[in-house]
Amino acid sequence: MVISNEAKDLENQLRSYSKRADSYEKAEAQEAALKVIPILEVQEAALGGLRGELKDSDEESRELVGRCPEAALTKSLLRWFKEDFFEWVDTLDCLGCGKKTHRTGAAEPEAYERLKSAGRVELHGCDDCAVVRRFPRYNDPVQLLASRKGRCGEWANCFTLCCCAVGLDARLVVDWTDHVWTEVWSAKEERWLHADPCENVIDKPLLYEKGWGKKLNYVAAFGQHGVSDVARRYTANYEETLGRRSFFDEERFAELIASANMEKLNRLSRKNRDWELLRQERERFELLKEQNSSTKERLRPRQSGAADWIRERGEDGLHP
Ligand SMILES: [Zn+2]
Repeated sequence: MVISNEAKDLENQLRSYSKRADSYEKAEAQEAALKVIPILEVQEAALGGLRGELKDSDEESRELVGRCPEAALTKSLLRWFKEDFFEWVDTLDCLGCGKKTHRTGAAEPEAYERLKSAGRVELHGCDDCAVVRRFPRYNDPVQLLASRKGRCGEWANCFTLCCCAVGLDARLVVDWTDHVWTEVWSAKEERWLHADPCENVIDKPLLYEKGWGKKLNYVAAFGQHGVSDVARRYTANYEETLGRRSFFDEERFAELIASANMEKLNRLSRKNRDWELLRQERERFELLKEQNSSTKERLRPRQSGAADWIRERGEDGLHP
């Protein structure tokens, strides 16, 4: 059997995201997050949401936040994270003249960058000043609490840690057509809620397919206790989505997910494993239902990032 590079990459990424999800539960990582999260303010706003005070044009989000404590806390954290904490980077500003640079290439991380978890480094150059700035793409969510900038990878990575730090049961969701977000478990709703920090959006799983116009393929969720294939949640047309999943046969992909999941389950106590298995069973059942876009608001094209960049990626909702 010939294994393609795409398949090999996906296998490696599954392992690496699975490991990253464990880092959100480390006590020192959560303590670092709690040092920067204005927890009282976030909790106060969450209570306001529960009282129906959420200012959001989307009626469904207001209703969900009004009845569900986990959604209220997540929504409050999303607002803080996007508006007060994290910065979106297309390109860095020039240190010489302050103007926008443009991407000129990539470089290997230097030792000091690797030490801070940079997997790769982008080079952003200014035409006027001939100044080149390095933009290290950090993988460690604790490092991101300090650098506080990036694109969706950094946003979702750091946001998922922040969710866990405030006591939410959160996991990282990776879409192999290049986006990352978070899911938060709601005991009230008895299901996982989609939460996208870049967009400050909660529980709109069809946002990418219907709003951005994405053609999804593999989508997997990585938590502390388990790994799941969640593509069905994010598409209204699973058959078509399946047709684009061409790196492996489906059986092989299911095996990879099951083995990553088993590794996590095996670390749990008997009681926690039983609970997790029950929750996974419930999710599989939930995902068999057809996903309908019931939203009364139109799902919007991508909001995070520069307009040109969004257009280039075909995420402006104009490529149905
Ligand atoms: Zn310049």
